[in-house]
Amino acid sequence: MPFDSFPGSSLALSTRMAGLHSSAIRDLLTLTSRPEVVSLAGGLPATEMIPAERISQAATRALQDPRAVQYGETPGWAPLRETVAAWECERIGRRVETDEVVVTHGSQQALSLLAQVLLDPGEAVVVEDPGYTGALQVFRAAQAQLVPVALDENGMDTAALERVLASGLRPKLVHTVSNFHNPRGVVLSAPRRAHLAHLADRYGFWIIEDDPYGELWFGTPAPVPVAAHSDRVIRLSSASKVLAPALRVGWLHGDRRVCEAVELLKQGADLCGSSLTQQIAAELLGDRPWLSGHLDTIRTVYSGRARALLGALEGAFGDRIAQASVHGGMFCWIEFTDGTDTAVLLEAAVGRGVAFVPGSAFALGSGHAHGARLCFATNSAQTLNEAVARLAAAHRALG
Ligand code: PMP
Repeated sequence: MPFDSFPGSSLALSTRMAGLHSSAIRDLLTLTSRPEVVSLAGGLPATEMIPAERISQAATRALQDPRAVQYGETPGWAPLRETVAAWECERIGRRVETDEVVVTHGSQQALSLLAQVLLDPGEAVVVEDPGYTGALQVFRAAQAQLVPVALDENGMDTAALERVLASGLRPKLVHTVSNFHNPRGVVLSAPRRAHLAHLADRYGFWIIEDDPYGELWFGTPAPVPVAAHSDRVIRLSSASKVLAPALRVGWLHGDRRVCEAVELLKQGADLCGSSLTQQIAAELLGDRPWLSGHLDTIRTVYSGRARALLGALEGAFGDRIAQASVHGGMFCWIEFTDGTDTAVLLEAAVGRGVAFVPGSAFALGSGHAHGARLCFATNSAQTLNEAVARLAAAHRALG
């Protein structure tokens, strides 16, 4: 339901709330939390891949330091900022200073604070279509004018972006999920990364490179980040998909002035992040031998699950769906070629004990009615097979 009024009351909400809708995915997660429903809907890392034992050891160690239970510095626990600076430096291939990093409450908070730092109401923001709903929510709340640019198997169509720029659009920023896109699963190709950065320099806009999935590659690592090509890029990443979402540790890295402005707003948002979970994240992300073994395990398990899901879909639906190969991340995107409306299919599917997110949830307008995002990370291969059998039964029942 849109938040445009309090029925029967003269108390008003801000104009910012007008037209905002609750995320379809959030609503869906509530609906699909029933134990009999296999959910391919959420973007949940596999619980058994979360290193609970290692987190517990790090927590015990951290708690011996009284600073772990106190308020901390707003831009983050200094050793974690240093670890993140080293991590980002390895990825973008140039030196990153600690004061170019702000640790946030998940990378979602980085998105939200950046929208406040960078955007005035009515300014144009280019988003991918289909796009990450969490980003769409944030930019809508900032009262930005959202301009969709399509994606294909090589990520955002930067030639299409160039055409809109040439026709006069002057966006304040462009948001892209460059690696293993949510929801499309695709990777922005190396030439398009360079092209996007070139367009940012030429037309003068910020890029938010939103990259929580980059480490979850299956065969070969993703190309160097867009941030390697331009200093107009603010890179976001997170411990959620590699350690645990519950740590709520994410970060942004980029222009020092932007970091200072984010810090200022973060003071008002939450004073500081959790000192305890930041200390835990600093220990785990800083322990390179352990981390590389841990990431290898996640990559092996997730790639096996992706293969299982794609194989089961192929067996059950054949050419009634188009699906792209998956090279990493947590999601696969399918498109029904037989005209199936996936919002209608979802209702039938939930009735048969399986859930997914219909493509329309990620659309800016009325598009992607035949698309669907399926998360392969959360469930075992056996459960994924069962989920596809249920989905096929729901599809047959629709006739
Ligand atoms: N960006 C993208 C593209 C995501 O998919 C997510 C999580 N679903 C986030 C940001 C936010 O994740 P977190 O706040 O846990 O770091």
